[in-house]
Amino acid sequence: MNEVDRHARTDRTASATEPSEERETERYDANGRCDPSEASTTGRIGEPGAASDALDVAIVGGGICGLTTALALERRGIEPTVYEAASEYRPVGAGISLQPNAMLVFDRLGIAASIRSAGVALDRVTIRSSSGRTLQRFDVAGVERDAFGVGFVAIHRGDLLRILRDALDTRVETDMPCATVSSTEPPVARFEDGTTVRPDVLLGADGIDSVVRDAVVDGVGRRPLPTVAYRAVVPVTLPAQARTAGCEIWGQGTYTGGAPIDDDRFYWFATAPDSLVPVDADPATRLAALRDRHAAAPEPIPTVLDALEPDDVIRSALADLPTLERWHRDRVALAGDAAHAMCPFAGQGAAQGIEDALVLADTLATGDDTESALAAYERERKPRADRARAESRRLGSLATIESRAGATARNLLAAMVPTRLVDRMRRRRVANASLPGD
Ligand SMILES: Cc1cc2nc3c(=O)[nH]c(=O)nc-3n(C[C@H](O)[C@H](O)[C@H](O)COP(=O)(O)OP(=O)(O)OC[C@H]3O[C@@H](n4cnc5c(N)ncnc54)[C@H](O)[C@@H]3O)c2cc1C
Repeated sequence: MNEVDRHARTDRTASATEPSEERETERYDANGRCDPSEASTTGRIGEPGAASDALDVAIVGGGICGLTTALALERRGIEPTVYEAASEYRPVGAGISLQPNAMLVFDRLGIAASIRSAGVALDRVTIRSSSGRTLQRFDVAGVERDAFGVGFVAIHRGDLLRILRDALDTRVETDMPCATVSSTEPPVARFEDGTTVRPDVLLGADGIDSVVRDAVVDGVGRRPLPTVAYRAVVPVTLPAQARTAGCEIWGQGTYTGGAPIDDDRFYWFATAPDSLVPVDADPATRLAALRDRHAAAPEPIPTVLDALEPDDVIRSALADLPTLERWHRDRVALAGDAAHAMCPFAGQGAAQGIEDALVLADTLATGDDTESALAAYERERKPRADRARAESRRLGSLATIESRAGATARNLLAAMVPTRLVDRMRRRRVANASLPGD
């Protein structure tokens, strides 16, 4: 049993008999710092005799980033504890496209083959206009697969989370919403059920509305966009040539696309301005408006929309985060959407969190001490993730242009970008992935 487990068990028992607020406050000053005599002494790593598996790491959030971080830590001999707010993992939700930089990380973690076999390794992704004209075509074999041995994989999110959990020895404590982080030195997190943990390192992988982030930076919250995303997984049989092909369609204020995620299911997505469907519209009205809006899109979109049931469609108001001033404070750090939530247009949100995971595990396992390991993690990861976030926002403005003239000009320009330039950009994105040791 590691330190966190011991703390969790002890305090859970205690919380039934005494208010945890009182127990905590008396030991911390106004800045949330602990009396040094109370501070953990097991935070140093990489010292002779200080085995990294003695390091207590608590991860708040068991989404893609939290679970990938747990796996990356395990591969480095550190067994963290993951605290997840949801009461269970259910195989619902939408699909996700894992770009080659994410697949390189999964390759390092030994689960790339499982992900490819549960999902679909795409041979190409084509961007088209709504009239069906090809604006750009990414042939995966000629670029990413040749240069890096990995490509794009489309998979159901539920399958990805299952593969991550199956690969883990780490215990994932579900039904454990973190309520607050009251100290960063040492880290102290309190959960809604009264449990308090004091790990050596606390990681916030708790998504865009992160609670842990409040202990690292002041007053940062989501930046809403005037756009809504709709997603669904649709049972559909595609013609052979479409079974390994992803697509994006850039119309006039209509952005849609998707990819097959296994032999008979297609992951569909679309965005639309807030105004297209009232928030409280019933599912049938919502689907009718989406069908209407995307009626002219090239195949397979109309086929997919026809196969949809109203309740299949998941609606998400889009938002991202501003640039954070910092990603860590003392021994509390952020990763994934908690640090750099971005719009989905560059398909890099999860991929950047997956890169965070590998770097964080590497710096914690090899750093001189915990704080400098977290500083090294932030130095390596923050600039790249911030660039991806900014790029995604720019792409979003382009992909969702509403005016006819603007959409026509964008499509003309997109079709004119030389393939070798696009190929170079694609290679650079993968080559610049944060892969410790390369
Ligand atoms: C429409 C859309 C399409 C997208 N498509 C792609 C794509 O194709 N490719 C890609 O790479 N990215 C994509 N993304 C981005 C991607 O979904 C996110 O970047 C990714 O899911 C973030 O993972 P995460 O683990 O950091 O956060 P999350 O997925 O938000 O997970 C956070 C976890 O923490 C838990 N949690 C939250 N609060 C607490 C708390 N207080 N205590 C304990 N647990 C808590 C949550 O229950 C959740 O399990 C897309 C996003 C959207 C909106």
